[in-house]
Amino acid sequence: MTEETRPGEPLSGPTPTPAAGTRLDRWLGAYAARTHGMRASEIRALFAVANRPEVVSLAGGMPYLEGLPLDVIGELAQRVVQTRGTTALQYGSGQGDEGLREQILEVMRLEGIEAHPDDVVVTTGSQQALDLVTRLFVDPGDVVVAEAPSYVGALGVFRAYEADVVHVPLDAHGIVPEALETTLADLAREGRRVKFLYTIPNFHNPAGVTLSRERRPRILEIAQRHGVLVVEDNPYGLLGFEGDPLPAMRSVDDEGVIYLGSFSKTFAPGYRVGWAVAPHAVREKLVLASESAILCPSNASQLAISGYLATCDWKGQVKAFRELYRERRDAMIGALAEHLPDATWTVPDGGFYTWVRLPDGLDAKAMLPRAVTARVAYVPGTAFYADGQGADHVRLSFCFPTPDRIREGVRRLAGVVSAESEL
Ligand code: PMP
Repeated sequence: MTEETRPGEPLSGPTPTPAAGTRLDRWLGAYAARTHGMRASEIRALFAVANRPEVVSLAGGMPYLEGLPLDVIGELAQRVVQTRGTTALQYGSGQGDEGLREQILEVMRLEGIEAHPDDVVVTTGSQQALDLVTRLFVDPGDVVVAEAPSYVGALGVFRAYEADVVHVPLDAHGIVPEALETTLADLAREGRRVKFLYTIPNFHNPAGVTLSRERRPRILEIAQRHGVLVVEDNPYGLLGFEGDPLPAMRSVDDEGVIYLGSFSKTFAPGYRVGWAVAPHAVREKLVLASESAILCPSNASQLAISGYLATCDWKGQVKAFRELYRERRDAMIGALAEHLPDATWTVPDGGFYTWVRLPDGLDAKAMLPRAVTARVAYVPGTAFYADGQGADHVRLSFCFPTPDRIREGVRRLAGVVSAESEL
């Protein structure tokens, strides 16, 4: 054992910095067991390269903020500090600003949700809500049922709390009810404790599909019958390209569903404001858990968003985003049809992503370094499963690059795929 790895010894004097990757972790023996599953994504190093301007990144899920009236938003932020500075810059309520919670009700009404401001807990993005919900319900080894594939950030949280993720297949209409029924029945027979079903009903990340209107009550009925709570994660629900939003599952069942919302995709992720709407008793625990994690969400962010909702045409802005993303979806689907005829893909009715199955025999993860060399990036499908499936899929995002860049990116990807097929 070297000096640096001996646990518990104080460092004497400055330690030289060894070359990256050569230093053993002095605290290795001290970490909690639940950290053992935490690991940097295998593709993180490539993303540093993927962010170079010459690379067309179809990888990230970043909203296109150049569509926002940044001058107006800047003035609003300034006004918040000038007129309510001692509140905005102060600690606040652990549950979140009451005025914003009222306004969140108005946002959720667009998806048929009727709630009380007391039911809403404001969080630091819906990512924090995912963390809190998992912290409340999951003991190591408990089962969380999630779609196959599922959101990579949620899988990271489930892993951090040592959940056992059991996947249920999706098709073009969302999670398959018969498969959910069989999975829950099998788990019950095995005596496994299922803590919740985690689902992204609208414009799924990464699959791009939407749970159909007909299936929604069926999924709720199956979950109820098996005594399984539903966590409905819905950051993209208002970003549909056609027609009105479908009714949220929470609008049908207010006792069996925890609903997660976010301003990240319809406004801006930088403020880091999301929310959870939970059954009454759960809501109280969520507030306690949130207080112990962060004391309170940022007042400055909440008041800035509150001002935006009160004084800007936010519905008009959401409509503008929908049109922008629809045009980009069309560019991507058109380019896929033109350049990658041997692949198959989902055609999303909203949101940011399409899920592409590569021609037979290709491995998306193995191919990624060659794609980056060809100046295009994507996320390999394996990132979206807890069990290593997905090597034959890629997630392509159409939210950030312009239509021309999307077409160029897909053209480059097609070049890599055809070179790969000849290997
Ligand atoms: N859920 C899903 C399905 C997402 O795609 C994201 C962001 N990519 C989040 C939750 C987290 O979003 P935020 O924390 O910014 O609200």
